[in-house]
Amino acid sequence: MEKIYQIYGRDAHDMTLRLLTAANAIARVPAGGSVALKPNLVVTGRPEDGAVTHPGVVSGCVEYFRAHGVRDISVIESSWVGDRTMSALRASGLEAVCDKWDVPFYDLKKDETRPVDTPVGKIDVCRRALDAGLLVDLPVLKGHCQTRMTCALKNLKGCIPDREKRRFHAMGLTKPIAALGAALRPGLVVVDSICGDLDFEEGGTPVQTDRMFLCTDPVTADAYAAHLMGLSLDQVGYISLAAEYGGGEAAYDPGDIVALNAPSDAAAYIKPSGKVAKLTKRVRQDQACSACFANLVRALHVTGRTDIDIAIGQGYKGRTFDGLGVGRCCKGAAKCVMGCPPTAGQIARALEEA
Ligand code: SF4
Repeated sequence: MEKIYQIYGRDAHDMTLRLLTAANAIARVPAGGSVALKPNLVVTGRPEDGAVTHPGVVSGCVEYFRAHGVRDISVIESSWVGDRTMSALRASGLEAVCDKWDVPFYDLKKDETRPVDTPVGKIDVCRRALDAGLLVDLPVLKGHCQTRMTCALKNLKGCIPDREKRRFHAMGLTKPIAALGAALRPGLVVVDSICGDLDFEEGGTPVQTDRMFLCTDPVTADAYAAHLMGLSLDQVGYISLAAEYGGGEAAYDPGDIVALNAPSDAAAYIKPSGKVAKLTKRVRQDQACSACFANLVRALHVTGRTDIDIAIGQGYKGRTFDGLGVGRCCKGAAKCVMGCPPTAGQIARALEEA
């Protein structure tokens, strides 16, 4: 099974460089081939709002591939129907990154398209995505009001013209997203899971997770992403379907995760507000790592179990607690979900059993 490289922190540029180096990503570029970087600029917004890719992910890619001799590097994307890509480019901070690194940006709303045969019929796909020597998918892991989750596969929807985006919605999203993922099959996926939104692809309720991961299979990346969100593959229908269509493998092996550092290397979770504060009203935290706390938030969101007393954080080491402990730091609790950090799926199961 494909390896998944994972790292914790808040410096997207440095984290990206370390992931690409650990995975020897240059081996994915065909000799003399081009690299097209495909971030998520779905709407006009800032990365800290939980919708768009941190510009440091793109600058990290540019520095890495340039240092390895790749000359033809570009950034490609189109926003959703109703927003202007160039406005999203500016607001995200990516325009400044493209200027600084002298990398061309192409608005795919203006690109030529070619029809591609897929299991759901022909889909018009933007030429710059199809012709890339290596297409690098740079999604944000976040919630989605229709598909529950969006990550590597759904991010590719930015590689089709607006008329096809509208048609995808008319087709119910699941099948065309799976078919597009199998047809485009990016050779590298670097997931920005630093602060993706809880519910919506347009952001507004970011959950600070301070994590990134890399995988060469977009279907495996999404299978792992669903697990991190506390969702089963049945709840995100396009993942297994993409595997059926030949887009990759809808599974991951925990033994294949290469951890480049520990969750405690990232900053502690900042005091939650708004919807996250409501979800965690029975949670007592003391120096909780962001990844641990974010997984708990996702599990509370998925299960709706906000009626249980929960302890989390490094400050609970060696202490006892009557309720549910989350993470190995809380093994002194009456019941504990072990792991460092435990996944949202593990926490959700414990909440449902409580
Ligand atoms: S178990 Fe403790 S050290 Fe591990 S991620 Fe959770 S809070 Fe951090």
